[in-house]
Amino acid sequence: MSDTPPGPAPGSGLPPDLAWLKALAAWLEGQLASVRAAIDAEEERAGPRWWVQWMRTAPGEPRRGVLHRAGCWCPGEPDLYEAGLRRVAARHGAGIETCPVCRAAVPGQERNGPVTS
Ligand SMILES: [Zn+2]
Repeated sequence: MSDTPPGPAPGSGLPPDLAWLKALAAWLEGQLASVRAAIDAEEERAGPRWWVQWMRTAPGEPRRGVLHRAGCWCPGEPDLYEAGLRRVAARHGAGIETCPVCRAAVPGQERNGPVTS
């Protein structure tokens, strides 16, 4: 048994009781949903910014491709928004490499080599 009083740690800035904590969590979730909606709207306004140049592979082999970003002179045109890019990167992982020309990367995962581990 602990000597720690119930509720959030003193000095955390959080309200002391469960009802307030739940109200705060509901408000924060609402705020987060609003911010995410604003991000989605802004990305939609900006248009697609990435595309994958898929390579031919033998039947049964995993799909492979090169990721490009808007402005790259390589063949193809942007057709992926950030959410779509994340889905493609999650599905194909190391099968998608970074273009050596534009060095496109999944936002937050900027580095050399495959766009995901
Ligand atoms: Zn490129």
